[in-house]
Amino acid sequence: MNILLPQAVESEAVALLKRENCTITTAPDAKPATVLPLIGDAHGLILRTGITITRDLIEAADKLMVISRTGGGLDNVDIEAASEHGVVVTSNLGVNTISVAEHVLSMIMALSKRLATLDHAVRSGNFGIRYQNLPRDINGKIIGLMGFGRIGRELGKICRQAFNMQVIAYDPYLADAKKNECDSWVRMVEFEELLATADYVSIHVPLTDQTRDLVGEAELSLLKPEAILINASRGGVVNETALTKALERNRIAGAGLDVFSEEPVPGDHPLLKLENVILTPHTAALTRECVVRMATEAATCVLDVFAGREPRNIANPQVLESGRWKQDRTVAV
Ligand code: NAD
Repeated sequence: MNILLPQAVESEAVALLKRENCTITTAPDAKPATVLPLIGDAHGLILRTGITITRDLIEAADKLMVISRTGGGLDNVDIEAASEHGVVVTSNLGVNTISVAEHVLSMIMALSKRLATLDHAVRSGNFGIRYQNLPRDINGKIIGLMGFGRIGRELGKICRQAFNMQVIAYDPYLADAKKNECDSWVRMVEFEELLATADYVSIHVPLTDQTRDLVGEAELSLLKPEAILINASRGGVVNETALTKALERNRIAGAGLDVFSEEPVPGDHPLLKLENVILTPHTAALTRECVVRMATEAATCVLDVFAGREPRNIANPQVLESGRWKQDRTVAV
């Protein structure tokens, strides 16, 4: 079976695929024009975030059986087109939960303690900064989690246990059973209450038509002046123009962003000039440990599909009922 990697994945995953006699092709780069001529031979595709698998690409992929995301987000796959062509789409929700939660916590701490500013001041001889614009304690403050799924819940737990923070969350889609598991330490609130009450607002929702621009000018205007906003979900969830304006006017105290509406961030982006933000290049899940977990899990999903086993986290389970898949599965089994 042929596996196409639009971007290289960790050697542990490659070894796993080679053990099962897969032939692996790594694209020279992740541009659609580069990937297009390679995709026709692929039975499986392991996908990071550097390319969107569009309908055009899927239509050129006659042999493709599975697209397996290394991460949790599926916004860079045209799932509808994949489903129409009988291609199983899998994701890796949960594998990166702890890494993303730790990253967000690091942003909360770095912004509250003003680490980047103070470090820069010491290096440039400004020791006197220690009396100005003091850092803040985190203990006992309110964290507002927009989206109370895997990452939101993990972060909430850490904030409560490590910093005795009060945890509030907004997630209208979460099953009651999940809410009940946590009801001793989280208070579920409405969207506006979360924005107006939290000292830290951290966003953990998928990017969908409903969540695009979920936080724009009107929402930012509800935040407390001392609030810090963190977005490690997807860039389009926060309106960057509105956020830049709010930060320029010190309408809120700061922001931590791991994700952007355009990645890589253009060199002239106004956010790059601001001191009250901390920016990371979509690396929340890219710890040494997590990249290996994500790549090997993604490879396992591909091998599961080839072997006729049902992989975990299928985004389009209806495909399993399609004639093509049933036939392939029968053959493989
Ligand atoms: P999850 O599916 O476990 O949780 C998402 C939660 O968002 C669900 O509980 C869902 O009910 C809720 N939700 C959906 N729409 C909502 C809305 N309009 N308002 C409020 N809540 C809403 O996913 P997760 O593992 O917690 O990850 C969350 C998101 O983080 C992913 O979808 C992905 O886009 C992003 N992510 C980013 C990185 C990174 O590297 N920065 C890594 C992993 C995940």
